Amino acid sequence: MIAEIIVDVSAYPIDRPFDYGVPQHLEAVIECGSRVKVPFGPRKIIGYVTGLKDESEVDEGKLKQIDELIDLEPVFSSELLTLSKRLARETLSYEIDALQVMLPAAMRAKYEKFIIVKEPEKIEDAGLMAFFNGRTRVPLKQVTDSNLLKAIKIYADKGIVTVDTAISQQTKVKKVRTVRIMDASTLTELEKAIHPNAKKQAEMIKWMLGHAGKTMEAAKLLNETGLTNTVLKALIEKGAASERHEEIYREPDAPRLLDTPIPLQLTDEQQKALKAVNEASDKDKAETFLLHGVTGSGKTEIYLRAIKHVLDKGKEAIVLVPEISLTPQMTSRFQERFGSLVAVMHSGLSAGEKYDEWRKIHRREVKVVVGARSAIFAPFENVGIIILDEEHESTYKQDDTPRYHARDVAIWRSEFYGCPVILGSATPSLESYARATKGVYTLLELSRRAKNQSLPAVTVVDMRDELKEGNRSMFSVQLADAVQKRLDKKEQIVLFLNKRGFSSFVLCRDCGTVVECPNCDISLTYHRANESLKCHYCGHEEAVPLDCPECESEHIRFFGTGTQKAEEEISKLFPEARVIRMDVDTTRQKGAHERLLRQFSEGKADILLGTQMIAKGLDFPNITLVGVLAADTTLHLADFRAAEKTFQLMTQVSGRAGRHELAGEVFIQTYSPEHYAIELAKTQHYETFYNLEMLARKQYGYPPFFYITLIQFSHEDLLKVADFADKATRFMKSNLSQDTVIIGPAAAAISRVNNRYRYQCLIKYKKEPKLIETLQQLIKMYRTNWLKEGLLMTVDMEPASI
Ligand code: ADP
Ligand code: ZN
Ligand code: ZN
Repeated sequence: MIAEIIVDVSAYPIDRPFDYGVPQHLEAVIECGSRVKVPFGPRKIIGYVTGLKDESEVDEGKLKQIDELIDLEPVFSSELLTLSKRLARETLSYEIDALQVMLPAAMRAKYEKFIIVKEPEKIEDAGLMAFFNGRTRVPLKQVTDSNLLKAIKIYADKGIVTVDTAISQQTKVKKVRTVRIMDASTLTELEKAIHPNAKKQAEMIKWMLGHAGKTMEAAKLLNETGLTNTVLKALIEKGAASERHEEIYREPDAPRLLDTPIPLQLTDEQQKALKAVNEASDKDKAETFLLHGVTGSGKTEIYLRAIKHVLDKGKEAIVLVPEISLTPQMTSRFQERFGSLVAVMHSGLSAGEKYDEWRKIHRREVKVVVGARSAIFAPFENVGIIILDEEHESTYKQDDTPRYHARDVAIWRSEFYGCPVILGSATPSLESYARATKGVYTLLELSRRAKNQSLPAVTVVDMRDELKEGNRSMFSVQLADAVQKRLDKKEQIVLFLNKRGFSSFVLCRDCGTVVECPNCDISLTYHRANESLKCHYCGHEEAVPLDCPECESEHIRFFGTGTQKAEEEISKLFPEARVIRMDVDTTRQKGAHERLLRQFSEGKADILLGTQMIAKGLDFPNITLVGVLAADTTLHLADFRAAEKTFQLMTQVSGRAGRHELAGEVFIQTYSPEHYAIELAKTQHYETFYNLEMLARKQYGYPPFFYITLIQFSHEDLLKVADFADKATRFMKSNLSQDTVIIGPAAAAISRVNNRYRYQCLIKYKKEPKLIETLQQLIKMYRTNWLKEGLLMTVDMEPASI
């Protein structure tokens, strides 16, 4: 028997399976999808079996054998193997990357170099001897001293030590050691035989007599007796007890139950939507629904009931939520309804916890997974429904290889299982809404809030006026007054400050003008190095104006504010307020999100100040005021989706206020109050926004009217990267059709990262049958030649942002 195996040699420019012989003893157990260890060159590495056959083209003498089968059960079902092929093809990635992205990090192939001491007695270097300290296998990374390294090299030349690569299991199955104590008569017999000098053993046996027949954790036994493991081991040896190592799961923090009441009666709109979804699942129909409903309209309740419907039929459910700050409350609601049938997968878990959740799914011990993007690969084999909540979120797009969108993968899997997909959002992506209006997706609308609460009153504050009044603070007079009022009433406040993307723009504080590219309808990016403004789509460049091209004011300069600065201003304006700041800096630690949110929900702070991570999901009854400190930061992102992102954010942020009994109020501060994305966020008129934004997209040829592919280049040498980008662009131009628009190459929005210069090229097309093939050729040139010259190139079909 011959196995086709994909091995992890990403640096290797060949992307195909290798043939290996299957040793006889493995023939009966090996399957497609099995994880194995194989020799590759001088190393032993992990691979995945993707095919089994009788004959190989490789000479029998040259054919290597599989070393070891790692798991008894295959890690990939045939469905996931097929999916990985499609994933690799559609994202132009290596197959190994498409396979590994489906597994928890703990299971991915990882290599570590080890020093193997072959003839320890021949080592004379005292330092080295002390370092090895009797060990014969030491991780190379532990050698941090150059003298030791030199000594090791000398002995390696003589063959006394070798350096070998081995697979390190980054995270193992967690086991607990338990001890079963024998019955009293056995113990009494043994007690008699114990040597009078072995006092400790006698002491432990006495204790055991009081616990005869019991099973307990070894650690507990040692703790209670106060005796050492050596004593316990001696007694186990003598037969006083037996020990076992049992596999256990690492439990992430226990869910915090919210006691969300289960509504007895769905609204008419909810009923209609649920019926449509359930009908599709009863017909085993792969139908994609776009569930468009304002915040609080009862979308989650529909998810819960649609899941119940498929669980009753013995099927499984996958629920994706965009960010971990959202998951505590969301997961709690799923756990309340479905209890221990729920697995949770998100980036807040440790590698070990994720591995354990994965195994629960793989072993069918759970039926529902709630998780972030990668949970779309949950190894269920009878999927009955897939749900993407907040489907417009860009976190569903992976920005590293393989560059997949969870929405696409959801639809591929639903096609295999014949099951519905629900895409839910208050502000659907333009792409999804366009598909729904064309009938590719089925549109389901929830136009009212479930408990009939009114949407909060939204006030847009014109910051240009503040400057005229001489107020230079980040807080307008109106917002500051509103904050003070809530503080007096002991109600809670959320203040939102979107971190400006990584790029920055130039804004006139008198009239709100932002300098834009004449060709591309996006903000120009400010480059400090040569005081210039550049378009990172087309390369257009101009000098930073000294006064505003619209109103000739001198107050035109680069714009940016941070959460730390905002915190300082808050403490000056409202010294008595208790503030929780939530941004990347304060949430780095594991569990920090949950902790901070819990503190806020328990009323331990008056103000929650944060970046987009607090924009959604929060559902606390006492929040009555939401303030957006600077809507402009998103509005002028150098991205054609800037208006869409602003509308989405403003709508979501507003949705945080007044979700319960207390009425809510929202203030949006901006220098561009007349922009339609901000105007319409006041009333949350999605359809009007959609129609206006579609006009702009059509005029400038952006999605959903055109598809976009982004090629990015980086190199340590500026001239080289420009040269490669130019070569690649010319290659694409000469192979693609006339109707396809190729823009660039141009310097990227962040033109230098980690000492590497970055360029990009944008391809816009409606129908381009030769695109994939041409890109494959380009990638081949890159892998075989350009990579060696220090270039890094990535291709992203339908990037989340440009
Ligand atoms: P969404 O997911 O659209 O934001 P949710 O499903 O979270 O909305 O519903 C918002 C609130 O309304 C929740 O507290 C939920 O329990 C409640 N709710 C949902 N449906 C109903 C209903 N039919 N009757 C009463 N309350 C409901
Ligand atoms: Zn101006
Ligand atoms: Zn441009």
